Amino acid sequence: MKIYNTLTRKKEEFIPENENEIKIYVCGPTVYNYFHIGNARPFVVFDTLRKYLEYRGHHVKYVQNFTDVDDKIINRAREEGATPSEISEKYIREYFKDAEALNVKEATAHPKVTENMDEIILFIETLIQKGYAYEVQGDIYFDTKKFQEYGKLSKQNMEELDSGSRVEVDTRKRNPIDFALWKAQKQQDEISWDSPWGKGRPGWHIECSVMSSKYLGGTIDIHAGGQDLIFPHHENEIAQSEALTGKPMANYWMHNEFINIDNEKMSKSKGNFFMVRDILKEYDPEVVRFFLISGHYRSPINFSRELMVQARNALSRLNNAKTNMEHLLENAENETIQPEESIKLEALLRYKQKFIDTMEDDLNTADAISVVFELVREINSSVTDKSSRAFMKALYEFFMELTAVLGLLQKPQTQEVDADILKLVEDREQARKEKNFARADEIRDVLKEKGFTLKDTTQGVKIERIDH
Ligand code: AMP
Ligand code: ZN
Repeated sequence: MKIYNTLTRKKEEFIPENENEIKIYVCGPTVYNYFHIGNARPFVVFDTLRKYLEYRGHHVKYVQNFTDVDDKIINRAREEGATPSEISEKYIREYFKDAEALNVKEATAHPKVTENMDEIILFIETLIQKGYAYEVQGDIYFDTKKFQEYGKLSKQNMEELDSGSRVEVDTRKRNPIDFALWKAQKQQDEISWDSPWGKGRPGWHIECSVMSSKYLGGTIDIHAGGQDLIFPHHENEIAQSEALTGKPMANYWMHNEFINIDNEKMSKSKGNFFMVRDILKEYDPEVVRFFLISGHYRSPINFSRELMVQARNALSRLNNAKTNMEHLLENAENETIQPEESIKLEALLRYKQKFIDTMEDDLNTADAISVVFELVREINSSVTDKSSRAFMKALYEFFMELTAVLGLLQKPQTQEVDADILKLVEDREQARKEKNFARADEIRDVLKEKGFTLKDTTQGVKIERIDH
């Protein structure tokens, strides 16, 4: 398989450290809210990588952390009069609900910062002993000048980095880009842990260095996440881990492009996001998964209703093919495969190699999906109600084998918002564009009668089922 490695900016042949056990670490969510469709992209994309490697017979050890100590969690807890752990525990539970809906397999381990505090402290102590970190009033910083290769992932040199971060120079730091490994407690009621440097909590980057080595060990095969993590998060992880061990942290660094809204990154902080939880009120989870892998992971996707509808239509063609095959299989009169069917079957099985070739090319799920559609067209023209059961069974299993790698067609479709409802939503938007507000209100009432409410947001209209 070829993988585009951010570290070398090249597609490289993927050679695992150990063929028998591939080790993957994916940076997980900060748990202070439901996750949005942008966050879902790395979860689904790298889960598809895992499914593919497992399909090819590898055993995969897959770790995805939860960042459960963070300013955003603390702020959210304050707002809601809850404790940080109540907030993080809640959103970890909610993560699993949405991830399961999207058919993202549970990781081999889902470690949390709060459960790895001793290891984090030990890691920082070792960095201090080795001269890579220093203390200032209870804060510990990583000395970036000491790590010669700092900047190698994001391809920036020290001077650029130094001048780029002058704006918020903290004069207590030796170099402007030094980053915190440990933050001293500022207020008495702030969540904190005891450490050799007094009460405090870890900086963000250290957790992944610690958890990657604790749960996967030494040099791992693939470290992955969204491309916003290249700098500073992954650059800093490399500095911490490689300063400590003297060995590469990971051999391949994979980064997915963004899900955008109006060509701007979807993000919680900008407020331009759609939560998966809300999208699932309108679309079947498999439509969301299909949408997320219908583009190559290194191409940006602009999230829009139009694309979601396209995804739904495309997926329903696959579902129809599946139902059709099931039907023919059930009603087949001939048990045994006919000679001409054997020839057809052999021809169709060639699609397997085609499918594999596209996936081997840096996980090109977009082309792999096209191969599945080509296969469907061929199947449709090869089967009739005279086809034998054996032939139908072989085709069906083959088709289901390929779609399973993509994590699709695994569950019966849940009830979706019907096309006529969506048509009404579109008509209403049109009416509003034409400033025909009376008509728009009328349609809103019709939708309400049918059990749907509409919310106008800055990103467009959101449709929701009224819960009774
Ligand atoms: P966070 O919870 O913000 O730490 O993000 C979890 C994961 O989602 C990280 O791998 C991010 O890089 C990724 N991510 C965040 N926003 C987007 C986006 N708009 N498109 C794709 N990936 C994203
Ligand atoms: Zn990380």
